[in-house]
Amino acid sequence: MTLLKEKKLSETPFRKEVLELFRSYSNAIPMAVIEKGLKTYNRITLYRTIKIFLEKGVIHEIAMSGEPSNYALCKESCSSVLHHHQHVHFKCRLCETVSCVEIKEFPTVSLPNHQIEQLEIQVSGVCSGCLEKDV
Ligand SMILES: [Zn+2]
Ligand SMILES: [Zn+2]
Ligand SMILES: [Zn+2]
Repeated sequence: MTLLKEKKLSETPFRKEVLELFRSYSNAIPMAVIEKGLKTYNRITLYRTIKIFLEKGVIHEIAMSGEPSNYALCKESCSSVLHHHQHVHFKCRLCETVSCVEIKEFPTVSLPNHQIEQLEIQVSGVCSGCLEKDV
């Protein structure tokens, strides 16, 4: 079963193209990169596609403070109701890429009298690719 069918989305050529674009990147990408990567697109259709992908748990949004949002494919079983992510978001200060990094033990947080629905961890520093270049 394809990812789109699994998420109960009809497979339009455009949705497939956007999905392929996400698959071709190993890190999260901002809207500008998505727009550049598409051959032809209608801005409204693109925004609708991104919105429905977010809603259905195909992709997730990473909003780092003061910067345009980045989008990345969901790796785990995200549903149309909730995103369940066991990874942190890492921003490299050198190459400025944002990536989803899996960690073994995702911390749990409990807040008195609050119900937590989402926990996002944002980390910044130097990514593995840049560290290698530095050697
Ligand atoms: Zn997700
Ligand atoms: Zn880097
Ligand atoms: Zn992520």
